[in-house]
Amino acid sequence: MSGTKTPAGSVRTTPAAPQSELIPYHIIRSGRRTLCIEVNADGAVLVRAPYLTGSAEIQRFVASRQDWILRSKALIRERRQAEDAFAVPPITPSDVRALAARALREIPPRTARYAALLHVTYGRITIRNQTTLWGSCSARGSLSFNCLLMLMDQRIIDYVIVHELCHRLEMNHSARFWADVEQILPDYRERRQWLKDHGGAYIRAMKEGALKNLPSSDDIQQ
Ligand SMILES: [Zn+2]
Repeated sequence: MSGTKTPAGSVRTTPAAPQSELIPYHIIRSGRRTLCIEVNADGAVLVRAPYLTGSAEIQRFVASRQDWILRSKALIRERRQAEDAFAVPPITPSDVRALAARALREIPPRTARYAALLHVTYGRITIRNQTTLWGSCSARGSLSFNCLLMLMDQRIIDYVIVHELCHRLEMNHSARFWADVEQILPDYRERRQWLKDHGGAYIRAMKEGALKNLPSSDDIQQ
C-alpha cells in the first residue's frame, strides 16, 4: 500500500462509490492535498482524495490511471492463483509418523555423505515435526531436521542438510558461511528461495491436519 497517512478521525470512506467506466473504486477523503490510487491485497481500488475534490475530477483521475490499475489487479490475481496452485493437503498425524520414519532412514546417510565432502563431524540426528524450523545445528553438533522436508524435492532436503552441516564451520550466517554452502551447492540460492516461498504451505498443512493430535515434545530420535 502506498499513500499518505492521515490523522486519526479525519478519514471517511464513501461506501457507495462512484464508478469509472470499467473500474469500481472506493473514495477515502482526508486532509491530504493530492489524489492517489491504491490497489489493496484483495484487488479493491481505493482513491485517496482531498475533502473538496469533486467526483468528476476523481473519475477523470481514475480513468487516466486505468492501465496501471488493471496491471496491478492482474498481478494480484496471478499471485493468488500461484498460491492456490501450491496448496498442500492437510497432513495427518499418521502422515507425520510415516514421514519421520522415512526421514530417519534417508537423512542420516545423506548427512554422512555431505559431512565427508565438507570435512566436518556432527553428533546425534533428531527428526522433529516443527512449525518454525527446517533444521538446526547445536553448538555441540547435534542436528535436527523437520520431517516435513520429506514431502519436498531431494534438492531442498539436501540444501537443509548442507546448510546445517556448514554451521559446523561457521555458527552464523556470515558471507563465509554462505560461501561454504555455495561450494557444495552452487545453486543454493534457488533452493533457499523455494523453501522461503513454499515452506509455509507445508507448515500450515501440518497445523491443519496434525498438530492438535501430536504432543510437540514427541521427538523421534535416532
Ligand atoms: Zn542457519
